[in-house]
Amino acid sequence: MSDTNKDINFAEAPDGHAGAGFFATSLEKIVGLARKNSLWPLPFATSCCGIEFMATMGSTYDLSRFGSERMSFSPRQADVLMVMGTIAKKMGPVVKQVYEQMAEPRWVIAVGACATSGGIFDTYSVLQGIDRIIPVDVYVPGCPPRPEQILDGVLRVQDLAENESLRRRNSPEYQALLASYNIK
Ligand code: SF4
Repeated sequence: MSDTNKDINFAEAPDGHAGAGFFATSLEKIVGLARKNSLWPLPFATSCCGIEFMATMGSTYDLSRFGSERMSFSPRQADVLMVMGTIAKKMGPVVKQVYEQMAEPRWVIAVGACATSGGIFDTYSVLQGIDRIIPVDVYVPGCPPRPEQILDGVLRVQDLAENESLRRRNSPEYQALLASYNIK
């Protein structure tokens, strides 16, 4: 093994049965493993929290260690919508349209106090949390959150992706959740 290869960590195999020349597990576990380690984020950054995300992508924090280095600026090729910054009410329909254009399975992270709850901007023009218009999977606290916290938010989405049932997106509960946001 070369020196370069020796520093590469491989993802752990899911539970299953191994023997000479074979490994057997369930399809759900394999799909979960693949999804977990290839989440493509769509950064929707409107203000200061977006700067923290830029640091998260840089070499010190290096989001690519988790398989998420491929930014997707097209909703149709994104898995995780990361909303970072103050969302004015006028911007709300745009966030919702981006979410609606993403294919399932899709996840959402509200990064920072503004995206989570409006933050310090308790005012008529600011949306008091993006979960008023789209479902949110993970909330990252802080104003601004440190890059470590943003990384932790991505890891929490990895946990969700790894353990999600293949049937969840077709379940009546999930359809009811979308319907409650008037999303088809
Ligand atoms: S949470 Fe704080 S740092 Fe983040 S966008 Fe709002 S004001 Fe800026």
